[in-house]
Order: sequence, then structure tokens, then C-alpha cells
Amino acid sequence: MRSAFFSALSVMALSCSPTAVDWVPGVVYLVPIGEPEATELARAEKVLALLTQRPVRRLPRRPLLPAAVHPHCPTAAPCYDAGSILDELLSEPPRDTFRIVGITEAPISSSVGHDSIAFARRHERALLYTTVSLRPLPDAQALARTRQIMSHELGHTFGAQHCSGPCLMQPRLEHRLATGACPLHRPLLVEGLAQSIAGPTFLAAVGRERGRLGDWNEAIDAYRRSLRRRPRVVEVEAHLALALVARGRHLEAEDVLDQASYNAPDSPLPFYVRAGLFATQDRTQRAAAHLESGVNRDPNPTSAHRLAGIVYQDVLRDESAAIYHFRLHLSAGGRDPEVLGRLAMLLTPTTLLFTEPEVVVVRWDVREGLLLASAGWGQAPGPPLVAP
Ligand SMILES: [Zn+2]
Ligand SMILES: [Zn+2]
Repeated sequence: MRSAFFSALSVMALSCSPTAVDWVPGVVYLVPIGEPEATELARAEKVLALLTQRPVRRLPRRPLLPAAVHPHCPTAAPCYDAGSILDELLSEPPRDTFRIVGITEAPISSSVGHDSIAFARRHERALLYTTVSLRPLPDAQALARTRQIMSHELGHTFGAQHCSGPCLMQPRLEHRLATGACPLHRPLLVEGLAQSIAGPTFLAAVGRERGRLGDWNEAIDAYRRSLRRRPRVVEVEAHLALALVARGRHLEAEDVLDQASYNAPDSPLPFYVRAGLFATQDRTQRAAAHLESGVNRDPNPTSAHRLAGIVYQDVLRDESAAIYHFRLHLSAGGRDPEVLGRLAMLLTPTTLLFTEPEVVVVRWDVREGLLLASAGWGQAPGPPLVAP
């Protein structure tokens, strides 16, 4: 009887595993930037509440950062840089932020969307739009337009790229009015909107966002929370280890990487991060050995050899190994312009210029691979801006 009771209890304990946590909706924050019209703010508030089914709260108005002339301004007049505004929105977001939405009336541009009206970075929490080029419309139509803009940018924040079909992820606003999402993008939007801010996917994205902004402690916290909810995800473990390396917490990083390799022995990611870890400690031979182990496990030879060549050239200072890997990139079918340029430079050494870089850490980027960042994290290349 007693043992039956205990076995029933243990079954219960298993079914109430610690990964099952409450669904936490979070809050959508709305931030006027500059002097946007009150009617547009009210529209945005309504649309966001409807789309996200979450509380929408306004934060105090923020002044525009000084306008400047960028290579990407749509006209000769100075304009505002979308990337800087998105970063500013994310500088200290409230802890319960699901999304933070900036609205402005100012002209905005970015390097990829010269005359765009709205901006967001994929997998990050900030989105932004400007009313500068929106013509006046009757109320119902204006509301529908705001809804289209928001849905599209929210889609980007959930990871969606642009779409060529009849879909609200089409790049041009007029082509997506009164359209829903295509079969490819619909599940992405539905899943994105259904996320809990305490869920593993959400927390992993927050970790990457904080890491891009150089908030390594917050990144570490978010990755750890993500792994508590869903353990043994090698990508998240690799990101966590990189954030720990960035904070100089090398032993903790090694522990995380050992565990990651134990759980996913075929993954190249822990090896790449170890290469970075040893490179930052000037242990170049160990770094090279782990880099090679990563390349040998990498299912994508072109990106693996590109990465290895760059690390050999810029960090490990081994030009012949760099040339060897760049050539393997080419023989595997890769034609990356950066690899071609570097190879051309390496093969004509008189044109080479070397300066000691202040490389403090390497950073993993899902798309780019391993990125080298100098002490000035602000200048580290981030994921590209996406715009309508
Ligand atoms: Zn689509
Ligand atoms: Zn877009």
C-alpha cells in the first residue's frame, strides 16, 4: 500500500516536471519618439492589443536622437537612423517586455531600407514605424493600414523574412493590404504571438538580443533560464558559453561546453566556441585544434572553411592555414566575396596591412558564423536590419 502510494507520487512528480511553467504573456510597450500624432498612437494601441492579446502600456515620450546624414538617407536632407532608434528602444526595456514599439513622425532610414516606413530586427523585441509618408485616410482604412504595418513588423521580430506570394510579409505595403499570411508564414506568426515570455524560445532570443547589445550579464541570465526550461539545446549552450567568455568567466564557459559536447557530440558549435575561448587566452595551438574539430563536424563545408580561414587569418595569425581553408571553401563550391578578397590579399603579400587588433572575444552568429569583435562592442556587426 505504502509503496503503491510512493510510486503514484513519483509518477505525479514526473508529470509535474520543472519544465512546465506558467504561461506569462508579458506586456507590449508603446513609446512615442519625437511628436507623433495622438490619433496614430491611439490606433497603434488598439491594434497591438488586438493582435497580441496582451496589455499595452505607454512609456514616456522620448526625444529623437539628433538627425544626421547617412549614406542611406532617402534624400539629401538629414534623417534618423532606424538601427540606432531600435537599439535605444532596447537599451533598458522593462523586464516583462514582450515587444517594445516605437512610433515617430520623423524621416527614418536604414542601410537596407532607404525609404521604408517601418523597421525591426529579426528575433529582437523592438519594432518601429514612422508616419512621415503615410497619407491621410478615413479612420477604418487608417486602422487597417496600421494593422498591416504592425503585423508585418511583428512577423520580422518572430523571425520571418520577406515573402513573394500574397502574404502580409510582402515587402511593399500596398501589395499586402487586406491579405493574410501565406501557409509558410502563418504558423510562424501564430507561434510567435503565442509565446510566453518565460518560454525557452523567447528567452533564447532575448539572450541573443542582449548579447548583440553587449549586455552580457542579461544575456547569460536569459540563456540560463532558457536552458532550465528546455535543457540540452546545443545552440543555446554555445551562445551561453560565448556570453560567459565575453565576461571573462572562462571556467564556467568550459563547463557549459563540455556538457554541450557530451550531449551533442556531433555538433561543431561547442568546438568553435572553444576555439574562440582558447584564442582569447593566446593558447593558439589548442584553439586551432578545436577549430579543426569543429570544421570536421560541420555539415556545411563552405561556411565551415570560410570561418576557419577568417579565424586563422585574423586571430590565430596563421596565413598558410588561412589560405588552405579559403581554398577548400572554393573547392567545396563556395564563392563568398570576402573569401575571394582575402585570398587575393593573402596571395599578394605586398598589399597586406597588419595591425594588432584588440580582439577580446569571438561571437557566434547564426547566419554569419563566428564573428570577431574588438573591445568596442558597439561597433560589432549585428544581424542585418530588415525593413518592408
Ligand atoms: Zn509569406
Ligand atoms: Zn519587411
